[in-house]
Amino acid sequence: MVGAGGLAVTKLLLGCIADDFTGGTDLASTLVRGGMRTLQVIGIPKEPIPDDIDAVVVALKTRTLPADEAVSESLEALEWLKKIGCRQYFFKYCSTFDSTPKGNIGPVADALMASLGVDFAIACPAFPDNKRTVYQGHLFVGDVLLSESGMRHHPLTPMTDSNLVNVLQQQTRKKVGLVPHSAVSKGNGLLKKTLAQVKDSGYSYAIVDAVTDDDLRAIAVVIQDHLLVTGGSGIALGLPDNFGRKGLLIGSEAASELPSVGGLSAVLSGSCSVATNAQVAHWQSTRPSFQIDPLTLAKGEDQVTQALEWAKSIIQNEPVLIYGSAKPETVKAAQELLGVEAAGQIVEDALSRIAIGLVDLGVRKLVVAGGETSGAVVKALNVEALRIGASIDPGVPWTVGLRDVPIALALKSGNFGTVDFFEKALGQVQ
Ligand code: ADP
Repeated sequence: MVGAGGLAVTKLLLGCIADDFTGGTDLASTLVRGGMRTLQVIGIPKEPIPDDIDAVVVALKTRTLPADEAVSESLEALEWLKKIGCRQYFFKYCSTFDSTPKGNIGPVADALMASLGVDFAIACPAFPDNKRTVYQGHLFVGDVLLSESGMRHHPLTPMTDSNLVNVLQQQTRKKVGLVPHSAVSKGNGLLKKTLAQVKDSGYSYAIVDAVTDDDLRAIAVVIQDHLLVTGGSGIALGLPDNFGRKGLLIGSEAASELPSVGGLSAVLSGSCSVATNAQVAHWQSTRPSFQIDPLTLAKGEDQVTQALEWAKSIIQNEPVLIYGSAKPETVKAAQELLGVEAAGQIVEDALSRIAIGLVDLGVRKLVVAGGETSGAVVKALNVEALRIGASIDPGVPWTVGLRDVPIALALKSGNFGTVDFFEKALGQVQ
């Protein structure tokens, strides 16, 4: 394997580009479950990556960037993956096809296609496990069309048209066709023939219907030789089996094995979601915790040192929770005084410095609650790549952050996880 500039020595099976961080983790977890040893890299790493890896997910943050920036960042990621050499490339976007009429799914897919020299790719966001299904090219969220779901009010990417052929067609000059469920449900023979017909009729993309995992697996079989696949985590479900049939995978248990890191344990929480607040309260009923808050921090009180001093006396005996999480009315009051961004930033900065301090105290197992908070902590700890392990709850795996001293990280975005998530996560790691 290679770093940024070296020569390729080993081929990866699958090189993925994800348009956001948690989507990348979701994809990586799916691949691990399928038996692929998977590394999620945060941007393009400077250091070489380990060579016992089958799939790499480059997690970008391109979903809502201007299209030209999303394209150039995605192409840069592709160049890096091409240098390593991959048998297949995957462009991962959201299962609700989050995008605007200008992009970024179409422009990025067009650019990846051109760079890889391919003239056809499927687009399949379906993810039945998460109740995202596609029928006659129309995306459903649960029982309702995408355009009637909460996604129609999304602040950045409102989805007001459920017909994905139309949606993608607005984002590309290439022709967008459809492979309907009547062909998908018949599996291999008819599906392959229909896909070939769509391609031969001059279409560059096919939206492919899928309403069940069996549909996704059938689609995966017929696209096994496509150099570029685009879609949600759902379609990735069947990709490992393609490599498995060729004898190229080691099996799912071995794929999710992580090196043991030893050390002490802690939880940091910057999420104020309903689920996280309940998880914090659950922890507090039996275990020690320390609260920081943006107003106190803004007054100049050194809650970072206070939290670390407090932790020092306890953490040798039991794990601690340090949190900014608060109820909506408390958050609102801080935001009104400090501004929304500044209130968030001040807590993220403090939790990042606390993370560094905890690692200095010997913490090697860290649960972090909050998407933005996780991003800030991972950055502060200089983690460039995460080896993905088994899932604790759907969408949240244990990972090992590769750095000079490896650290086990469970990065949980807001609403994920059962009420005992923190305790459960720490009970599962060595
Ligand atoms: P989630 O995944 O639940 O959206 P994030 O970490 O992405 O969580 O976002 C939560 C934001 O709220 C972060 O920027 C965090 O710093 C901020 N925050 C945490 N505690 C407070 C608080 N008490 N008051 C205001 N903002 C806070």
